[in-house]
Amino acid sequence: MSKQPITDLIHHAYTPPAGFAAPQPAVHKASTIIFANVAAMRSRNWQTKAGYTYGLHGTPTTFMLEERLATSEGGKYCILVPSGLAAIANVAMALLKTGDEVLIPDNAYGPNKALADGELKAWGITCQLYDAMNPADLQARITPATKLVWLEAPGSVTMEFPDLPALARICRDAGVTCALDNTWGAGMAFNPFDLGGGASVDISVHALTKYPSGGGDVLMGAVITSRDDLHLKLKHTHMRTGQGVGANDAEAILRSLPSMPLRYRAHDVAARKLALWLGGRAEISKVLHPAVEGSPGHRHWRELCGERDAAAGLFSVVFDERYSTAQVDAFCDALRLFKLGYSWGGPMSLVVPYDIASMRSARLGTWPHKGTLVRFSIGLEAVEDLQADLAQAMAALD
Ligand SMILES: *Cc1c(COP(=O)(O)O)cnc(C)c1O
Repeated sequence: MSKQPITDLIHHAYTPPAGFAAPQPAVHKASTIIFANVAAMRSRNWQTKAGYTYGLHGTPTTFMLEERLATSEGGKYCILVPSGLAAIANVAMALLKTGDEVLIPDNAYGPNKALADGELKAWGITCQLYDAMNPADLQARITPATKLVWLEAPGSVTMEFPDLPALARICRDAGVTCALDNTWGAGMAFNPFDLGGGASVDISVHALTKYPSGGGDVLMGAVITSRDDLHLKLKHTHMRTGQGVGANDAEAILRSLPSMPLRYRAHDVAARKLALWLGGRAEISKVLHPAVEGSPGHRHWRELCGERDAAAGLFSVVFDERYSTAQVDAFCDALRLFKLGYSWGGPMSLVVPYDIASMRSARLGTWPHKGTLVRFSIGLEAVEDLQADLAQAMAALD
């Protein structure tokens, strides 16, 4: 197996049992899969990839995507689900039951917390938020009821990069399963199953909607693990809840995967240029980008991702507090190339203003910045055009 992720994405050794010989796999669409005889029908096992059983349990197209993602992420098994959020839900449903508790970072992807506050709470599963930038806080909150700890790097929108190996070690020592939302890292920035010093996450989930799709046109998620027992649990829940994906969507992601390392690098280079440029502007009081000196957790980013020097294309800035929210909204409206929209990872640059104070638990301390926060997802446009767009929109602040 090659050490370079891009080569494995194109020349992965996996061959579907039926056999194919083309650089790009076919789109196999099926609900029914035909068996040669009754004996074959009775003996076919949907839990392994030795054969095909029913479209919901996989086709050559989805098996190939699963194999490639498991490899690029450094894991052994992968399960495809209809969205990144469905991947989070699959893990929660597979591992938690009434009386259990889940720990989620306060700066986690918002809908993960909403799931805990909605369905999980209704099912008698409790949730505690913890401060991911303080490993001692995680340590203190683990109890015998804790059955799942979520990790995320960096934090959603606010971009703090935690000490992931330390958090994973705390979970391992406590015997609690930890799952990482690895959408930002995408298997490109670091290997979640080898965080250094023997630390590893148990499960990595990933919104394929972002960089693997790369087009802003497909919703899909992946649940990856290298543990046989966990995979089987996740797979059973996946089977019982019917979270299949469409073959056309799987093929669209297979087509985009080989260019992902190049795109990831291009988004990253442009984002760092623009983050540094914005950091030099008088209108901006703080740049939140894990690879930028002075950003929260920059040291942890350097330790984990410094060797690959990878940091995605996402960052936030805090405007100086002399600007009102209405003025910052006017700045966002004045942008021409940056479009207002959620999600990220596609070719088009996007912008979203956020009210962070309303997104955080007051118990874990107040958000230290007074100005309005704006998050940018840097696309693949020419960086000088994006910079000119940001510069012209600054006029709207006056
Ligand atoms: C986008 C995103 C998700 C959810 O992905 P969807 O496919 O939009 O459901 C989960 N986690 C993170 C960190 C994300 O950015």
